[in-house]
Amino acid sequence: MKPLTPLLESNREWAAKVSEKNPEFFETLAKQQAPEYLWIGCSDSRVPANEIVGMLPGELFVHRNVANVVVHTDMNCLSVVQYAVQVLKVKHIMVVGHYGCGGVQASIDPTPHGMIDNWLRNIRNVYNKHKDLLSAWSDSEKEHLDRLCELNVIEQARNICETTIVQEAWAGGQELTVHGWVYGLSDGLINDLEFNAANQGEVEDQYKIAIRKIEVMRDMMRGEEETDAQSARSLWDRLNKLFG
Ligand SMILES: [Zn+2]
Repeated sequence: MKPLTPLLESNREWAAKVSEKNPEFFETLAKQQAPEYLWIGCSDSRVPANEIVGMLPGELFVHRNVANVVVHTDMNCLSVVQYAVQVLKVKHIMVVGHYGCGGVQASIDPTPHGMIDNWLRNIRNVYNKHKDLLSAWSDSEKEHLDRLCELNVIEQARNICETTIVQEAWAGGQELTVHGWVYGLSDGLINDLEFNAANQGEVEDQYKIAIRKIEVMRDMMRGEEETDAQSARSLWDRLNKLFG
């Protein structure tokens, strides 16, 4: 048996199952796609975009790279964004990071990793920018990394807002909202950071509020002895309520 035979077999089974449920599914989909969402996430195999949000083929336009980075010179990412916004007219762009991200972790690891360090430099810049804030979590490697994963999502969400593509869409009155999420590998749940920018005027406010939430988290943490017991999500639930 060839090594990829099991994959091809399960593809046949999957296609048959989908067609059985909806005989016109593939025929309809082949003619056009009309997704309302663009997902920009990490390449990590544990974060499969469609599955996590229960969406079928055709419902989600996806771009993934190591540690969900949005760089203004990355023609690959920008081309995806341009097609999604200008042609597909998606209504939402979600930047989706995840806790325990190896790319984010490697960005602050002093060991050289070769070429990828040039890419990870983008996250290292996020770390340097928020070094003082992050130092509050220096006692716990896990929490320190959790906060950097969150800050990375906030910064990359702002980067998306600042692309010429999103700026032009907003200037033309197009309905488009940029969101920031972090997915939990250990429980399969998405943590909504409630960064939601729907026009140019909201970007700075949304950015400042999101950063402010992490500052408040630091202050809340100071008064409590057992912080490890709290999941990042319950912390964010409290923060979102506070700022809601
Ligand atoms: Zn990752």
